[in-house]
Amino acid sequence: MGLLLKGGRLLNLETGSLESLDVLVEGSTISRIANSIEADGHEVVGLDGLTILPGFIDMHVHLRQPGFEGKETIATGTRAAARGGYTKVACMPNTRPVLDTPEQMKYVYEVTAREGSCTVLPYGAITKGELGEELTDIAGLRSAGAVAITDDGVGVQSSSLMREAMRIAASLDVPVVIHSEDEDLAKDGCMNEGVVSQRLGLPGIPGLAESAMIARDILLAQETGAHLHVCHISDAWSVELVRWAKSMGLRVTTEVTPHHLLLTESIIDATDGEDANMKVNPPLRAERDRLACLNGLLDGTIDMIATDHAPHTPEEKQRPFRTAPFGFVGLEFAFSVLYTELVEKSGSLPLHELVKKFATNPAEVFNLSGGRVVEGGIADITVVDLEAERVVAPDEFYSKGRNTPFAGQKAKGWTVLTVNEGRITYQA
Ligand SMILES: [Zn+2]
Repeated sequence: MGLLLKGGRLLNLETGSLESLDVLVEGSTISRIANSIEADGHEVVGLDGLTILPGFIDMHVHLRQPGFEGKETIATGTRAAARGGYTKVACMPNTRPVLDTPEQMKYVYEVTAREGSCTVLPYGAITKGELGEELTDIAGLRSAGAVAITDDGVGVQSSSLMREAMRIAASLDVPVVIHSEDEDLAKDGCMNEGVVSQRLGLPGIPGLAESAMIARDILLAQETGAHLHVCHISDAWSVELVRWAKSMGLRVTTEVTPHHLLLTESIIDATDGEDANMKVNPPLRAERDRLACLNGLLDGTIDMIATDHAPHTPEEKQRPFRTAPFGFVGLEFAFSVLYTELVEKSGSLPLHELVKKFATNPAEVFNLSGGRVVEGGIADITVVDLEAERVVAPDEFYSKGRNTPFAGQKAKGWTVLTVNEGRITYQA
């Protein structure tokens, strides 16, 4: 007996049209897609007026376990992911201990099998303890199921160490995922360097701290042949560098967050730098940077959307702007705010192009299952209601984190059903 999704509209990723089709799931596979499939003893879910999409994939999530379970756990973070329509998330290794050994990979897979509400793909660290001093066992991490390697949270400052990491990663065909930040340029900055930081008297992080490291790592990727994936791109020059790298035929990909596409430092200005729920790294930047990210998304320079879901406790985010930790949550509303702003309101991006950034492209770039709703494919499916409008309500989050500058914003495009490998993981 299967799960029959009946009466919905399946998005055609090539043409963008919505087609009235039933989808039958048997086991973990999509067994049939047709105009009308008989109920025939299957469990039927009626989807009148709803839209069927491939399950979303977020390649940048902080689940905080082990070590920071007060902020988030694999259980709460993956429940939040399922509620946001995600069927796969890749979790960052900046936990305590750092995910830098094969045993730690095993730990994430075991906890996810017991308590998870979506597939979790752990990243392994590039350097032991993310200290930037000694490389991890990259081959061992890969064998234990690391989706790629990264020191996200900090940049790898040593160029020679990064060069060696890329050489090894290239030989193993493991993507190198970079948090690009030159610490000597970023110093103790807490927001974007510019007129707003000057007015508020807060130390700034220049866009150059990001773009200079991206330039270095593109050149290292060119030399070593490694696949370089640039995390949370936020600066206009960074986008230009990735565009150039792609034009040169290099294996360089990148992601952007909803907040860098929709927000700027002006919201920090408007609140006089007193609300740390607007503090994130890389920081919200200037309007020209936001537009560069948007243009990069539209012209294909930017491959995918990633939330950089980074939960913290309310107490931590109530600290003064300078000392509060960086980070926003994002899993439960990323699609909704981007659908509303980019597809519905401005019409700058058609729905099927947005969905590719949420599902198809991450699957292709990282060689994962899913990303498409096709017969014989894995049953990772998200059903959304494109009409109903709700506000982003942190009080209702499944995540332990409440820290988002989108709180209170109206949006459409909410998930009503998530199916992960044939199992219903969220139903509104
Ligand atoms: Zn990062």
